[in-house]
Amino acid sequence: MVVKNQRKDKGEDIIQINKTGKAAMVGTPCQILAATKMDRFMEEEFPVDLKIGLFCMENFSYSNMKELFKEYHVDINDLTQYRIEKGHLWLYLTENRVVKIPLNKAKKSMRKNCQICMDFTSEQSDISVGSVGSPEGWSTVIIRTEKGLELIESAERDNYIEIKPISESGLKIMEKLANDKKTENKAEISKRESIARPVLYRRQMPYEEFINEVSECQFNDLKGDVVDIGACVLCGACFYACPEEIIEIKDRKPQIKGECPEGCNICYVACPRTYIPEEILSKKSDKEPFGKYIKILSAQANKIEGQDGGVATALLTYALSNDIVDNVIVTDKSIGDPWKPEAKITDNVAEVIKASGTKYAACPVFKPLKLSKGGSKCHLK
Ligand SMILES: Cc1cc2nc3c(=O)[nH]c(=O)nc-3n(C[C@H](O)[C@H](O)[C@H](O)COP(=O)(O)OP(=O)(O)OC[C@H]3O[C@@H](n4cnc5c(N)ncnc54)[C@H](O)[C@@H]3O)c2cc1C
Ligand code: SF4
Ligand code: SF4
Ligand code: SF4
Repeated sequence: MVVKNQRKDKGEDIIQINKTGKAAMVGTPCQILAATKMDRFMEEEFPVDLKIGLFCMENFSYSNMKELFKEYHVDINDLTQYRIEKGHLWLYLTENRVVKIPLNKAKKSMRKNCQICMDFTSEQSDISVGSVGSPEGWSTVIIRTEKGLELIESAERDNYIEIKPISESGLKIMEKLANDKKTENKAEISKRESIARPVLYRRQMPYEEFINEVSECQFNDLKGDVVDIGACVLCGACFYACPEEIIEIKDRKPQIKGECPEGCNICYVACPRTYIPEEILSKKSDKEPFGKYIKILSAQANKIEGQDGGVATALLTYALSNDIVDNVIVTDKSIGDPWKPEAKITDNVAEVIKASGTKYAACPVFKPLKLSKGGSKCHLK
C-alpha cells in the first residue's frame, strides 16, 4: 500500500511505502502502553489499530528461567505447556510429567522492570484478556472501547466465541490481584525513587510539562533513565521509532550504533518507561484496579485451543478473516529455541493460531512491525 503523508511541520509530501496496513497487536500491559504512546505522538499513522492486551502479574528472563528449570531437572525442550497458578509455576512435560515450582523460588528469574509495573490488566487496550476470574478453559475479558465492544459482539454473533457473565467471586479475585500488584509495586517505586533510581513513567504530568521534560532527551537519556536502571521492558518501541535506524537490540538491550542528530527525541517519547502525560495515564489509575472499562465477562473460543479460553487468538483470527485488520502482531516460539518468544507480523490465520499460548518471557514486539515497513522513517507529531 502506498500512503501519501503531509508533513505538517515542513509542508512537504512524503511518499511512504507502507506494507503494514492496519494491524492488530496482542501484548503485555507495558507493550500496549508503548503502542498507545506511539499512536499519540508519532507523526505518521501508527499502524496498530486494535490492541488486545493480556493480564500480566510478572514476566521472566528466558535465560534465567532455563537455568531455574535445570535446578528442577527439567529440560526446556521437554516442556509442552506452562502456567502460573495457585502460587506455583506448573511445568507440563512430555510423557505426562508435571513439575511445580513455588512462585517464590521462580521470583529470582523475574525481570527487575516488572517490580515497578502497576498495570495488571492492560489498561490501555481495546480488549484485555486473562485467565484469572474465569473457570478453566475460559478467558476473562475486559472490554474497554467501543471498537472492542463491536469486535466482541460480532465475533460472538459469527460463532468465533461464546460469552457468559463473570462470577462475583471471579471478579473479587481479579480485583484483589490487581490491587495487590499496585500496592506492592508502588512500595518498590517509592523505594527506587528514594535511592535516586527515578521511575519516570509514574510521574504523570500535564501535557505541556511532559513536552518540556522530553524535549531535549535523546538515546543517552533513555539509556540512563530506563535501560541502565533496570526499567526497560524490552518492547522494541525505541527500535521502531528511531528515524535514523541506529538503535539495535543486542544482548537483550537496546543499544546505539551511531550519532543522534540534533532535535530528535522520538525514542525517548515512545518508551513506555519515560514520562507519560496525564491524558494517557491518569493519576487516578492507582486507585482503579482495572482502569477504565465498559464490561467484564467470561469468554471461550469455539474452535481454538489457547492458553486459557483461546479468546485472544479467536479475536485476532476474526479480525484478520473479516478484513478488520490487514496484519496481526503475535508472539510465537523461536525455531530451534523452544519457549523463547519471538514476535512476528503476519496476515496468515494458521500462523496466528500456531502462536497461541503464553510464553513467559519478554521480547521486542515492535521489531517485526518496523522491519515490515521496510525501514520507512518515523517522525514526531
Ligand atoms: C508474561 C505474561 C504474564 C501473564 N500473567 C498473567 C497473570 O498473572 N494472570 C492472568 O490471568 N493472565 C496472565 N497472562 C495472560 C494469560 O497467560 C493468557 O495469555 C491470557 O489469558 C489469554 O489467554 P487465551 O487463551 O485467550 O490466549 P491465546 O489464544 O492462547 O493467545 C495468547 C496470545 O498471547 C501472545 N503471547 C504469548 N506470549 C507472549 C509474550 N511473552 N508477550 C506478548 N504476547 C504474548 C501470543 O501471540 C498469542 O496471540 C500472562 C501473559 C503473559 C504473556
Ligand atoms: S513490565 Fe512486566 S509485569 Fe508489567 S506488563 Fe510488562 S511484562 Fe508484565
Ligand atoms: S536518532 Fe533519535 S530516535 Fe534514534 S536513537 Fe537518536 S534520539 Fe533516539
Ligand atoms: S528502552 Fe526501548 S525497549 Fe526498553 S522499554 Fe523503552 S522503548 Fe522499550
